Amino acid sequence: MKTGMTHLFIPGPTNVPEAVRRAMNVCMEDQRAPDLGELTIPLFADLKKVMKTTSGEVLLFPSSGTGMWEAAITNTLNPGDKVLMSRFGQFSHLWVEMAQRLGLDVEMIEVEWGQGVPVETYEQRLKADTSHQIKAVFATQNETATGVQSDIAATRAAMDAANHPALLFVDGVSSIASIDFRMDEWGVDCAVTGSQKGLMLPAGLGVLGVSQKALEAAKTSTMRRAYFEFNDQLALNKDGYFPYTPPIQMFHGLRASLDLIFQEGLENVFARHYRLAEGVRRAITAWGLRTCAVEPKWQSNTVTAIMVPETVDARDVIKYGYTRYNTSFGTGLSKVAGKVFRIGHLGDLNEVSCLAALASAEMSLRDAGAMIVPGSGVGAAQEWYREAHAESVMVAAE
Ligand SMILES: *Cc1c(COP(=O)(O)O)cnc(C)c1O
Repeated sequence: MKTGMTHLFIPGPTNVPEAVRRAMNVCMEDQRAPDLGELTIPLFADLKKVMKTTSGEVLLFPSSGTGMWEAAITNTLNPGDKVLMSRFGQFSHLWVEMAQRLGLDVEMIEVEWGQGVPVETYEQRLKADTSHQIKAVFATQNETATGVQSDIAATRAAMDAANHPALLFVDGVSSIASIDFRMDEWGVDCAVTGSQKGLMLPAGLGVLGVSQKALEAAKTSTMRRAYFEFNDQLALNKDGYFPYTPPIQMFHGLRASLDLIFQEGLENVFARHYRLAEGVRRAITAWGLRTCAVEPKWQSNTVTAIMVPETVDARDVIKYGYTRYNTSFGTGLSKVAGKVFRIGHLGDLNEVSCLAALASAEMSLRDAGAMIVPGSGVGAAQEWYREAHAESVMVAAE
């Protein structure tokens, strides 16, 4: 029998804060009530702040993040359009697969799992495409399967260096609201996310940022779409309504989660994710292990994929974590199955929750046969958290 808290350290769904869960516990409401806009219109405005867009729009669909990939593609592109994509993990792989299924002509760059968006190669391809056959460039900001963070500002710079007019699509499902994201500044045309990661809600709400350029492309796009039609949403959203039944409970939860994010301050949320992630990385170094991300510049602040020793099956680490220590870690997906386990460290977390994850990981690793020194990772993380806290106290005192 399980007693006490269960410990959820997967990179989505993430822990839902108590305030958010309570906010969702309300009676059913009329989705055509005259005052619904009082709840919904500010949500759109606040999501624009999270995405850092003033010129774009944010759309909400009852969907998971994957639906927003589809909405982005089918509203803005044409059948057979050439698109530039890269694959370096299960999520970037699935996006490629979707683009192919939807009938796009995908120019795909294979990248070693552990690295991210190959901006130099993107720049070369875009410069070579003088007749502008490439209609969209895709970038997965945070590859959740490998714990790899990519540089979206550099992706935009590569497009600008080639003076290329393609649309820029960014998968921000495990980064938006946790890692810096600047839709307008980086010229992102479609920014995809979902409710169950940085926004700290249950799964079920797709969130899509669309630029004016994407909305313009939607006017002539001939791909088939129905449920995900931008215009059906936009026509009603301006008064706070939806073309089909919206999940109003989720909107109440979103209100509460946005309030929490703004109370902490978006930049402080990003700083906290860095601080917590760095503790996890120091623990891994202390264990004598390494991250799937092959260089520090690729290491994600929301999820870490930890390579286990060759003699260990990462699935055992996950199994012992769950069955013995009440802890859920993320599994290794596809190519890295058995080789990595993942600690999701995004959303509603603090230093002590991360230390709990690391303590549980140490026991699970040892149970699975990894000869790590007990307490070594936890100790390294503790010292980093103390140091980081002392530094921020000093900065605040100056
Ligand atoms: C979780 C995730 C997705 C898929 O989102 P769903 O909500 O499960 O459809 C896509 N991309 C990335 C980077 C993710 O982390």
